[in-house]
Amino acid sequence: MTEQPYIEFRKVSKVFGSLTVVDHLDLTINKGEFVSLLGPSGSGKTTLLMMLAGFEDPTAGDILLGGSVLNRTPPYKRNMGVVFQNYALFPHLSVAENIAFPLKRRGVAKAEIAERVNRVLEMVQLPDQSEKLPSQLSGGQQQRVALARTLVFEPNVVLMDEPLGALDKNLREQMQYDIRRLHRDLGLTIVFVTHDQSEALTMSDRIAVFNHGKIEQIGTPQDIYDRPNTHFVAEFIGETN
Ligand code: ADP
Repeated sequence: MTEQPYIEFRKVSKVFGSLTVVDHLDLTINKGEFVSLLGPSGSGKTTLLMMLAGFEDPTAGDILLGGSVLNRTPPYKRNMGVVFQNYALFPHLSVAENIAFPLKRRGVAKAEIAERVNRVLEMVQLPDQSEKLPSQLSGGQQQRVALARTLVFEPNVVLMDEPLGALDKNLREQMQYDIRRLHRDLGLTIVFVTHDQSEALTMSDRIAVFNHGKIEQIGTPQDIYDRPNTHFVAEFIGETN
C-alpha cells in the first residue's frame, strides 16, 4: 500500500432541502486501503458513498480521484464498482448470464466474456454454480454473484453499502473473511458502509466514525477502540471509558 492520497473529499457538503446530510467533510483514502464508514442510521454514510460513485452531486466541495476532480465525471467513467445490500439479480437468468449481461451489452466478445465470468466465479468461490438460477442459491451465494458481477469490470475501487446486512451471522462472518481476502489479493481500494461496530473493527484498515454528516474520528480499529476521542465514539463503539 502506498501512502499517496488516492481518493480525497475536500470540504464536501450535501444538502437536501433544509437538511445538511454531509457537512464540510474532509476525508483521504489511500490506494489499496480498506476504509469503513461507521455510524448510526442517518449520519450521511450512504450519501457520501453515492457522491463518490457519482450518483449524487455534492452541494459544495470537491471529490478527487488520483489527484483529478471528479465532480462532473459520470458514474460509468469512474471505474468504481458498487455493491448494495439489495443486489437485485435477474431471476430468469443463470448465474453466468447475470454476470455476463452487462458485458454483452458493452459488446465484449463471447470467448472473453466466458473467460472473465469463470475467473470471477473462482474469485468469489462459486465455480460450480454458473448454470443455476439465483433462486437455487442461498442468500450468501447470491451476494457472491452480485460481488462477481461487480468484479468482472475490474474496478479499481469497490464501494459497498451494508452488503452483508441481510445475511445471518455465520454467512456474514464467512463473507467478511472473503471480502478481506479479495481486497488483499486484488489490491482493491474498498470503501465499506456499515452501522455494525464489530464488522468495521474486524475488517478495516481504518474506520471513519460518522455523526450528523461529519467524521467524529478516523483511525485504525485499534485507535478507535482503545482511544476514542469523544464520548460519542466511545458510546458508539460500546466502551464508556
Ligand atoms: P446513513 O447511510 O448514515 O444511514 P444516509 O446518507 O442514507 O445516512 O442519509 C442521511 C440523511 O439524508 C437521512 O436523514 C436521509 O433521510 C436523508 N436523505 C438521503 N437521501 C435523501 C434524498 N435523496 N432526499 C432527501 N433526503 C435524503
